[in-house]
Amino acid sequence: MKCINCHSIDIGKIGPHQYFCWNCCIEMNIVGDKLDVYQVEEDGSVSSLNDLFVAEDIGDPQETQTEIYSDRR
Ligand SMILES: [Zn+2]
Repeated sequence: MKCINCHSIDIGKIGPHQYFCWNCCIEMNIVGDKLDVYQVEEDGSVSSLNDLFVAEDIGDPQETQTEIYSDRR
């Protein structure tokens, strides 16, 4: 499993369906095929990032990144 935000593999499991990325400090809750993403603020509060990550991003995050590497010389 990788972080869908920064693609780090430095993921900690904090619950049965909850994961926390130590690299960018987001929390991922996976319920069935639904993914909820939260930003954990310094004061401990969380804000939803679901607007940034749609469910289809779970499948293959590489696909959305291809544009970055498609630069030909
Ligand atoms: Zn991350």
